[in-house]
Amino acid sequence: MGDAVPHAAAPQGMGKPRAAGGCLCGAVRYEVCGTLRQVVACHCSQCRRMTGHFLAATAARDGELTVTRDAGLKWFSASPGARRGFCGECGSTLFWRGSGRDYTAIAAGSLDGPTGLKLVQHIYTADKADYYDIADGVPQSGRGLVGVCLQWS
Ligand SMILES: [Zn+2]
Ligand SMILES: [Zn+2]
Repeated sequence: MGDAVPHAAAPQGMGKPRAAGGCLCGAVRYEVCGTLRQVVACHCSQCRRMTGHFLAATAARDGELTVTRDAGLKWFSASPGARRGFCGECGSTLFWRGSGRDYTAIAAGSLDGPTGLKLVQHIYTADKADYYDIADGVPQSGRGLVGVCLQWS
């Protein structure tokens, strides 16, 4: 799949990864060395359909995410320029990869806890469904990501 997430084994001698995670059935597992982005919740119609609600995602920079088990990993493009990684065995939402981006978004719920992360922004709130309100005081963007609060930790 071209520029997909690298499937190489985790480099040895790099110490403990910052985080690890995977799908519900275990057919996909990954590790992140380096930092994770704080969590962004996307309420666009594609994320809502893919996840069944909305997508809360952290992110790992290129070269810092390693898929250590990819037996179930499948990719789906809902729109040109972005691919969504999920487990074809259990259906778990896992990754979002936009062309031209230098990171891969990772479904926050797939991380092994504790994550040490915080939800810092709701995006595409103009597309959210009508059955819930967003009232947690976290900043909202009606459209795409506003960069001001993109801390990594
Ligand atoms: Zn699975
Ligand atoms: Zn979305």
